[in-house]
Amino acid sequence: MASNARSPGLQALLDIFGVSNTRALLLPFGHDYLLERQRANVIITRVRLVALVFAVLTPLWIVVDVWVFPWPINGKLAIARLITSAAFFLLALMYRRADRLRDAWVALVLMFLIPTGFFLYSHPLLGSHDMVGTAHAMAAGYAFLPFVMLAGLSVFPLTALEAAAFAMPVLVAEAAVALMQVEMLGWTTHAGAFWLLLLITVVATLAGMSQLDLMAALVRRSTHDALTGCLNRGSGETLIAMQHKLSGRYGVPLSLVFLDIDHFKSINDRYGHEGGDLVLKQFTEALRRRVRETDALIRWGGEEFVIIQYGTHLEGARQSIERIFESEPGQVGLGTRPDGAPLTASVGIAERIEDRAEDWEALVALADRRMYRAKESGRARIVANEQEAATE
Ligand code: GH3
Ligand code: MG
Ligand code: MG
Repeated sequence: MASNARSPGLQALLDIFGVSNTRALLLPFGHDYLLERQRANVIITRVRLVALVFAVLTPLWIVVDVWVFPWPINGKLAIARLITSAAFFLLALMYRRADRLRDAWVALVLMFLIPTGFFLYSHPLLGSHDMVGTAHAMAAGYAFLPFVMLAGLSVFPLTALEAAAFAMPVLVAEAAVALMQVEMLGWTTHAGAFWLLLLITVVATLAGMSQLDLMAALVRRSTHDALTGCLNRGSGETLIAMQHKLSGRYGVPLSLVFLDIDHFKSINDRYGHEGGDLVLKQFTEALRRRVRETDALIRWGGEEFVIIQYGTHLEGARQSIERIFESEPGQVGLGTRPDGAPLTASVGIAERIEDRAEDWEALVALADRRMYRAKESGRARIVANEQEAATE
């Protein structure tokens, strides 16, 4: 999740409550790509499940309607139920292959619109007839539909803004029905129902937000490396594969930088594993401060790192790494070793278009091979093409 600047005191307080990033729980903007994808997947899967369940249950209730309500009400209700069921089936089928957040939003809107339509039709239909006994009790049950829908919001990992937006049509529909029937039940009954509906919305929204918070924490833990905070190998590969595909589709360059810290083992040997860990942290912080926000930093393994630069040419990538190496006057680019000597790395760079890398694996393999060339030809250098290593 995108981090935001806040006082350490406030952050510590929020951490106690497990709130990793309050803004991210309120608004659906600026979420990490990996979280967004996971969230979209979960929402769509649940919408499809709910749609399937209701597609089956809605027509089953026709039996009850026929039993308790007089003709032609039960006939009209049966037709409305069959249409509603078909709409739910369609919804479950339509989103089989969808995986973007935008798809998830549309699926959720449809999931709410379908029963709202049924409610807007059935509620006034039943209200317009005087009923007694079982029929009266069953008719009253139809009024509970909006409550079920809003309570149902709680099964989705949503931000506050999203939950409010999805609840809005249901609340408006309830208000519309109340206005249509205000003579029949009186405004106090409707106001009471509306108040309860609002309370349920608030509770369901909080439940959705806490689901999102838990999901964000789990996604972060499973996609990032605990020591350095970089993306881990698994999520890094997913990201590279996705960016390789995108850059191919839009004809945009994609540079991949492979870095391996020089003589890292000797730091461990002399200063222990903790000394090595500290150097790894400083190294990644130095990198993170200097790469662009759109560049992703991946811990490929041990003391090997990958920077993936979308939209950057080979030459641009080389310059960005040279800048990091040279750094500002008086500052050592990649940090220092515990003995005060500068920390260096060997770097290989490859670019999708210039190096004709057909798939992402080829791009990684090429950058990795060039990194080894940099090692062979003396370390603390960059190799970005096939000739370079031989001449140095
Ligand atoms: P070269 O210049 O050839 O790259 O030499 P090197 O010593 O950096 O390379 P080598 O691959 O031989 O050693 C990498 C070392 O990194 C070995 C391993 O113990 C250490 N290492 C891997 N992961 C961690 C870690 O998480 N923490 C620490 N402290 N050390 C690690
Ligand atoms: Mg290594
Ligand atoms: Mg090394």
